[in-house]
Amino acid sequence: MTLHQPLDVDAYISIEHRLGAHNYKPLDVVLTRGERVWVWDVDGKRYLDCLSAYSAVNQGHCHPKILAAMVEQAGKLTLTSRAFRNDQLAHLYEELAALTDSHKILPMNSGAEAVETAIKAVRKWGYEVKGVPEGKAEIIVASDNFHGRTLGIVSFSTDPDARGGFGPFTPGFRVVPFGDADALEAAIGPNTVAFLVEPIQGEAGVMIPPPGYFRRVRDICTRHRVTLILDEIQTGLGRTGRILAEEHEGIVADVTLIGKALSGGFYPVSAVLSNSDVLGTLKPGQHGSTFGGNPLACAVARAALRVLTEEDMIGNADRMGARFVAGLRSISSNHVKEVRGRGLMLAVELHPEAGGARRFVEALRHRGVLAKDTHGHTIRIAPPLVITADEVDFALEQIDAALRG
Ligand SMILES: *Cc1c(COP(=O)(O)O)cnc(C)c1O
Repeated sequence: MTLHQPLDVDAYISIEHRLGAHNYKPLDVVLTRGERVWVWDVDGKRYLDCLSAYSAVNQGHCHPKILAAMVEQAGKLTLTSRAFRNDQLAHLYEELAALTDSHKILPMNSGAEAVETAIKAVRKWGYEVKGVPEGKAEIIVASDNFHGRTLGIVSFSTDPDARGGFGPFTPGFRVVPFGDADALEAAIGPNTVAFLVEPIQGEAGVMIPPPGYFRRVRDICTRHRVTLILDEIQTGLGRTGRILAEEHEGIVADVTLIGKALSGGFYPVSAVLSNSDVLGTLKPGQHGSTFGGNPLACAVARAALRVLTEEDMIGNADRMGARFVAGLRSISSNHVKEVRGRGLMLAVELHPEAGGARRFVEALRHRGVLAKDTHGHTIRIAPPLVITADEVDFALEQIDAALRG
């Protein structure tokens, strides 16, 4: 064991500044411990986490049952690669299939890898099943999308920060406005293989599409034999008060992508869930990942899924989300333009005259609440799904006070 001296806050920050790439601009809070909805900084100050690591920590920080599963599996077997089988993967398949009503599953690690996997599989489906000429497959995506940071994915981003300077880009994508079903239908051609979309656009600022949009999208995709791929990496696994956000829309996607909370924040685990023959096109050797489907990831994911249902976190997200959004709507502040939310995926959009969301997020941090500013004028709020009514009320009091300040 190496002994290391704890540093003071300024030292942590200055070392990060000196040695780390500056691809993030975090709040200057240095966290060292977490439990349920609470995190503590190195000075012992406690904060209510209203970001949940972008919804990766839906189950709450350091959930004891997920921790126990991780420790137990880490002492037994961590990685075999998919060259051999392990005794955890089959269980994860069965449990995930039952929970999400899926027929085929492909495990990966990060969310971006799940997105890339779906793009590869659906292109292959286009050539082998739909009969699209080789090299011509087209995938339609929505404006203001966020699907990850790999080169293939930023190739169809409409965010100048995500794309700028990273070309040349991968071809084969078309962008239509989010929430506009007519534009989707007009963009579909004979070579369209898929429509890839988030049920609610999280990174764009919790943008909820108009009612009925997804029913029309589902119908259009079915009529044109276009695979509907829902990216539920952020909306999935309870965040919106349902196991998958598609339930709110009364639809079923052909392919669903999950990640983030699939491990309760312990470990990167993602998966492509398929209800159609899309994953069937991948044959041995055509796609893979050294860590994808490893026994440690499977054991952690199994525990993360188990506590979601056993502890009624999804129902709690629904109830606490209703309380939270009602509380946000009752805040009377001239700064607030709109409150949006579904379940515990919430946002407060401020008027441009408010001078940006960052100063409110800083004020909240001093009041013991950690939230995230997005796109300049929006405060995103997404606490772990285990939050209690008292904790919601605490957050609301602080948000109210910060927005009056
Ligand atoms: C976070 C996120 C991703 C990317 O996941 P990573 O694990 O960061 O690669 C993709 N899609 C959505 C909707 C996300 O929120």
